[in-house]
Order: sequence, then structure tokens, then C-alpha cells
Amino acid sequence: MFEGFRSGGIVNRAVAKGLVEVAVHDLRDFAAGRHRQVDDRPYGGDEGMVFKPEPVFAAVESVRASAAASATSATTRSFLTTESTELPVVLLSPQGRVFDGRVAEELARHPQVILICGRYEGVDERVAEALATDEISVGDYVLTGGELAALVVIDAAARFVPGVVGKEESVRHDSFVEGRLDFPHYTRPREFRGMKVPPVLFSGDHAKIDAWRRRKAMEKTLERRPDLIAARGLTPEERTIMEPAPKERKKR
Ligand code: SAM
Repeated sequence: MFEGFRSGGIVNRAVAKGLVEVAVHDLRDFAAGRHRQVDDRPYGGDEGMVFKPEPVFAAVESVRASAAASATSATTRSFLTTESTELPVVLLSPQGRVFDGRVAEELARHPQVILICGRYEGVDERVAEALATDEISVGDYVLTGGELAALVVIDAAARFVPGVVGKEESVRHDSFVEGRLDFPHYTRPREFRGMKVPPVLFSGDHAKIDAWRRRKAMEKTLERRPDLIAARGLTPEERTIMEPAPKERKKR
């Protein structure tokens, strides 16, 4: 899964540029015994298997030790604006706090983050109790393993690392960044199957285009995700944007 992810796309480009590094650690490398067993049957009886605590603790402690050694390197720290010294150890779990843009941005401020992926029935609870500093869920559904959840977290957090997302994919207007959804985007042709691009977009009047975009973003947000606005309230500028234009006011 991780190899596929690293073989293309924006994050892969960021890796090539040295802006982001994704290291995958196999728990079996930290498991004891001839069979390098990483899981076992659950106490109390039940279906499925549970990840044993020893290899997870050993893996995290080993990664933590090498992170501490490289923490002084300029490359791992150069992108930081508000730096946190704690190395987050995130257990991916459907029982964690729900991942969103704010959590992604928060994680991106750390020079390094450890993500623990579970499988089967999950991970021995002592990992959540005494090793993980955070538990994150990517949504209210259950995946078969933590890898896809980890990739979601890596991809979304990487977009907040300066230089990863170029001008052409600017995050500035993206949904959730300012507590609202993105405005609608159009490209050529001007008309497709009778559907026309709003004429304001080729008016050349940038102030007008900007106002139209802000208004559309607000309309979409109020229609689809009023919870985003409810959580923060309207800014005075947004209140003005949402006021009917003078002509519309007269019609009422
Ligand atoms: N028995 C667990 C429960 O119901 O809470 C589910 C275990 S799940 C089948 C196996 C692993 O997938 C978990 O340990 C976790 O790492 C990962 N996983 C599954 N769903 C997830 C989600 N929504 N968010 C983050 N990780 C998830």
C-alpha cells in the first residue's frame, strides 16, 4: 500500500524534493522468537487476533530514538513555524478523535510523527494507554487495517508543509481551510452540453470574480455544511458578502 502511494502524485514529489519523508517500519522486525509473532488470541476469548504490545512498544521506542538523534538536523526542522518538541505517537483507531483539516495542520507542525497501524481486532489496549499520545479515526466506519487511515493522514498533513502544494494546487481556497467549502471551479470549454460557465469568470474584473467566488463558497457551505459556519459564526466580511445585492433588495 505504501509503495503504491509513494510511486506517484504530489506527496511523492515532496518526498523527491526532501520536503517530506515517509518511512515504513515492519512490526515483525521488532518481534521476538523464531516466528516473529506480532499478534495473539484475545484474553477473555473472542474471534480474531490482537497485536501484541511488545513489538509495538519496541518499534515505537526504536523510531523515537532515531528521531531524537536526527531532531537537530536542519532539514527536518526547516519547514516549521510553530515548533513542538513532543513527537506525537498516533494510534490509528476508529475509537480516536475524528481527523479533519485542523488535525492535519496540527500534525504538519511537528518535524516527525509516528503513526501506528492496527489490523485484525486491533491493538492491545496498553498501547493506547501508555504509548500513544493521540488516537485518530478517519471516520465512523471500520477499515480492515490502519494503512489506508495512515495514508489519509499523511496525504492531508503533507499538504500543509510549505512547498509541498504548488501554486497550481494552492490550498488557500480549499474546503475547510477557512471554515468553509471551496468555490466552484470551471475550465474550458465555455459551454459543455448546454451548461455554460458563469460569465463573470471571463469578465477580467478580478474584484468581481473574487466577490463571486466568495459568495458561491458561502452559499455552498450554508447549503451543504451549515455546521462549519455554526462552529465559528460569520465574519463581518462574510455577512456583507451574503447581503443581497442592491438590485435584489429593491425587488423584495
Ligand atoms: N475492533 C476495532 C473496533 O471496532 O474499534 C476495529 C479494528 S480494525 C478491523 C483494524 C485496524 O484498522 C485498527 O486497529 C485501526 O488501526 C485501523 N482502522 C480501522 N478503522 C479505522 C478508522 N476509522 N480510523 C482509523 N483507523 C482505523
